[in-house]
Formats: sequence, C-alpha cells, structure tokens
Amino acid sequence: MSITTGRMTRRDVVTTLGAGLVAGVSAHFLTDGAGSLLRLLAPQRPAFLDYIDEKPSAPALNNVSPSAKEADKAAESFAPRLLGANDTFWLVTRPYMAAVAACEGTLLIGKPNKIDPYHTAFGYRELTSLADHPRQLYPFWDSVNHRWDATTAAGAFQILESTWDDAHQQHHYWAPGDAFSPENQEICFCYLHNSTGGSAELMDGVQVLNQHITVSFDAFAKAMKRDGQEWASLPYSEIGKPTGQSTRSMWQAWTWFQWALWAKCGYRRAITHPVGVNVPRTDTLRWRPKKGRMHWGEDYATPMNTPILAPENGRISFIGEDDGAGHIVCFVPEGYPELEMVSFHCTGKFPHPPGTLVKRGEMIGYTGNSGIGTGPHWHVEIRIDGHPMEPRWYLGMATWFKDKEG
Ligand SMILES: [Zn+2]
Repeated sequence: MSITTGRMTRRDVVTTLGAGLVAGVSAHFLTDGAGSLLRLLAPQRPAFLDYIDEKPSAPALNNVSPSAKEADKAAESFAPRLLGANDTFWLVTRPYMAAVAACEGTLLIGKPNKIDPYHTAFGYRELTSLADHPRQLYPFWDSVNHRWDATTAAGAFQILESTWDDAHQQHHYWAPGDAFSPENQEICFCYLHNSTGGSAELMDGVQVLNQHITVSFDAFAKAMKRDGQEWASLPYSEIGKPTGQSTRSMWQAWTWFQWALWAKCGYRRAITHPVGVNVPRTDTLRWRPKKGRMHWGEDYATPMNTPILAPENGRISFIGEDDGAGHIVCFVPEGYPELEMVSFHCTGKFPHPPGTLVKRGEMIGYTGNSGIGTGPHWHVEIRIDGHPMEPRWYLGMATWFKDKEG
C-alpha cells in the first residue's frame, strides 16, 4: 500500500511503457476469442513478456495455505512436469505476487481466517463489488504526524485509486468483465512490477536446475527493493516512512516467496521430520528484543541425544563447531542445492563425516546442549541460497503430504 496524503505520494511519474509492452501485458489475457488481435500485437512484444503463455487464474494465489487438504490439492494441481523457457515467467512471477500480497497483508498465508485477497480493501474491509476501483477513503493512524489519515488502497496488491487510474491510462487492453477483477488487478501488478524494474531484477536471478526452478536471493532482494518504490510494506521500502507505515522483514518476504514457489512448481513433498512431528516448538524465527538480535531458526524441545534424521535423501554438507552455536551439522537435499538444513547445539558425536550421502531417515547427529543455550533443544535453520526462511514451512511437509514412499 502507498499512502494518500493530500496529493498522491506514490511516485508521481510512472515510467512510461512502450505501447508494445502494454499490449503485451494484456494481449496475453485476450487469447480467448481475440487470437487475431494477439497475432497482430505479437511482433511488438518485448522480451519481458515473451514468457507469458499461461492464463493466470485467481485461485492460484490462494493455493498458499498450508492446511493438509489444500497443500495436497496444490501439490497435485502443480505436479512437476518438463519445464520450457515459456514457463518461467509465471512460475516465478506468480509466487512473487503472492509474496507482495502477503507483505501488503491481503494474503494471510497460513492463518485460518483466510480472506480473499482480491476482495480486500485497506484494513481488511471486504469489497462487495469489483465493478471498478472502490474509490473509498479508508482511515489509518499516521503515527509520525499523530493524526488520522486515509488511503484508497484496495485489492490483492492494495492499489491506490490514483495508481489504478494511471495504469488504465497507460493500458488499452484489460481482461473482459469487471474492471477491478482479479485478472485486471494482476495486469496492474505486472505493469507496476515492470515499471519499477523489479521484474527484470527478479527474472535475472532465475535458475533452472535439472528441471527445477530456483531464484537467487540477491535477485529477489533487488526486485523487492525496486518494488518498494511502489509498495510501502515491502522490506526496506521508504515511501511509507512519512506516515509511519511499517515494513516487512526480508526473511518474511523470502519465506512467503519460497512457500509459494514450491506450491506453484510442485516441489512440495513428503519428508521425514528430523526429530519427530510431536516435539513441541519452543521458539520461532524472530527478533529477540532482550538479546537485541535475530533468532534465525526455530527451537524444538528435544531431550539430550535425540537422533536428528535426514528429512530426505541428501548429503551432509558441513560439520563444525562455533562458540555460540556449539556443534553444527548441515544437510542439503538431493536435487535442491539451494536448500540447507542447519542444526545447532548438537552433541559432538556425528555418525557420518561431511560429504557423506545419506538416505532419508538416516541419522545425521544428536541434539544436545553445546554452545550457548538454556538447555537441550534442537535449533534448526532452513536456508535458501544461504538466507533463512521460517523452518516450519519446510518441516511441515513431514505431515502435510501423503507419503508415497510408504
Ligand atoms: Zn534457537
């Protein structure tokens, strides 16, 4: 969301897109019944949109709730298949859209009171009509100037009335039906995401590894920074500062993006919980105010010498020791070199040396109390491309999916 304080404070000048680009964004939505138009426009389509070949559907954004039933459904509907170059745009952009919507607060990933992001105005007010941008002012407290202000932010991407009208002026083609429909909100998103340069940054980081898509953290962070010129909730965004709008942490955005990327690409799979699904979690990935630093993992209340099992087939990537973390063992799943599971505070006894290939369920270490800690527990971090995401989204796959391996 951006803020309206008198005049619009969103970037005043929206980068002007070439007509061909604008046509490209929307021509994709016109493939049904407008084939000739599409062909006419095709030669003008710039590289940015060469990849758009899949008609997006609104429910896809909703497929990011981790309830077992929905996760199963998502895994089925996004089953892995051979990837072509044309797939990568939407396979990466749609999860990114989900991450932006989650930052904006319209997509409550993992929360039971799920709302329809496309029907949400600022402050979780439900839109009853998508005939047009609601053009309503919704109040919020300006914590810098200590007064009430108002915003017109609405829809999955909390688009301001002024932004919406701007985009409409720039575009000639929109999805048929309601003006503020999910499809049109997505067209508007693509338009803005491209105009900030965010899309180019994001697509720069795409890697296809053995029919497996991943995106570098660096590219993701750069894209988020660019899009922070448009959405005030994104990590490090400055545009909401004048009114005290809070921003999300990069690790939150990174977590949401990964989760949605896995959903979109069908990377959800049954794994073995390393210490058992019934062990209670005693701390989360969060800022620890008393200690004045981040806690980059989750803690699980395991007794001393609880075996740590390989969640899937993979490799022991590192064994070492650190004053704070104690004895450390790291694990990388086969086929997912970007993912690493890091265990702290282990006992000094490890069944295998670093580099060993292990099968799912094989022991890789024991929980302990080494390093700085208050008692025996399993501290686990999940890092993607070296940057932490919330471990529960990975560990949850131990219960959310049917185990096809028996
Ligand atoms: Zn911990």
